[in-house]
Amino acid sequence: MADQITNTVNSLKEEVIKLRRDFHAYPELGFEEHRTAEKIEEYLDNLGIETRRMAKTGVVGMIEGSQPGPVLLLRADMDALPVEEANDLSYCSSCSGVMHACGHDAHMAMLLGAARVLKNMSNELKGIIKLVFQPNEEIAGALSMIEEGVLHNPDVDAAMGLHIWSPLQTGKFGVCSGAIMGGLEIFKITVHGRGGHTGYPETAVDPLIAAADIIQSAQRIQTREISLLKPTVIMFGQISGGTKANIIPDSITLEGSVRTLYTDHEEENPMQRLKQLAEKVSVVHGCRCSVEWYRENIPLINDSEMSRMASNVARNMVGSTAVVNDLVCMPSEDFSEFSARVPGVFVFLGTGNKKKESDYPHHNPRFNIDEESLPLGVEMFVRFAKKFFNEWEVEGT
Ligand SMILES: [Zn+2]
Ligand SMILES: [Zn+2]
Repeated sequence: MADQITNTVNSLKEEVIKLRRDFHAYPELGFEEHRTAEKIEEYLDNLGIETRRMAKTGVVGMIEGSQPGPVLLLRADMDALPVEEANDLSYCSSCSGVMHACGHDAHMAMLLGAARVLKNMSNELKGIIKLVFQPNEEIAGALSMIEEGVLHNPDVDAAMGLHIWSPLQTGKFGVCSGAIMGGLEIFKITVHGRGGHTGYPETAVDPLIAAADIIQSAQRIQTREISLLKPTVIMFGQISGGTKANIIPDSITLEGSVRTLYTDHEEENPMQRLKQLAEKVSVVHGCRCSVEWYRENIPLINDSEMSRMASNVARNMVGSTAVVNDLVCMPSEDFSEFSARVPGVFVFLGTGNKKKESDYPHHNPRFNIDEESLPLGVEMFVRFAKKFFNEWEVEGT
């Protein structure tokens, strides 16, 4: 469907690549995206789009269509990761130990490119676009923006975002309705026993054997207590305690994560079940335990109507065989906080290309993108916005 939009987007390709490389060369960690925010403000200012700061380093801009209509939030995340880049590129990270290893550099560049196109076609738009550049995605920065009112003034009707995705080939999109990315809780279980000599175990209370039993027994929660159709993954990532081979320690600490692909119901609250199980198993071993946890992300749920529109746009762009409709995964994303409050859709944009070595996993020191995917992301933002304004009033709330 090569038309005016495709031509305009393609003419911006070099500019978007340049923006992405610049962000890539100067990565900043969550809530420290100062240079990044200034760069975004400068670009939007040049387009005649007013901006305001939110959540320390977040930037919000608005594009008003010539006709009234709903408010659509388009989101790009800004933060880099504490990873030492192992790529050999002319625009490698200039900041030791910090790297755009998740592709957020590409997200910002694509949304800025889309802002340029959308601003130029504002006389065709029936509504308002809220451009949201969000800090600290890796540790739930979306909530800070929501707490500071990003969904109000004017009230947002729906939200759309995308993530460049190295497991998916360049030229493909992944759009799926329902739960697409996991909810995440982080826990710490401390098992308290009574220390002693390994030659006199009967005089001590061994927290190690209780901890081992907790790890084994926890497996029953996901395989025996919760339907296999409700994906649940309880993983232990760290065990600490003890000082010497012949000493029974006082306590042992187990840390891990619980991921789910569904919104919690009372009877399927795996974190609550894990707490009860750890407490009871500890008692069996004569120990006691304390359990702390916090929720880092809720599951990301795509709205069916928004997904239908995004899928339609993607199929028109790349053909239906290049649109994957079952891309669901367990990593989490804080776009979930937007889509829990307004109808939302989060789209995966393929960037995997073996020849260009852009198929390394996200967060890997060799992570890189195929820049051919950038125009597709820009076009998706633009076409989705256009379709949303044309169809939302009729088929929406
Ligand atoms: Zn990430
Ligand atoms: Zn990411």
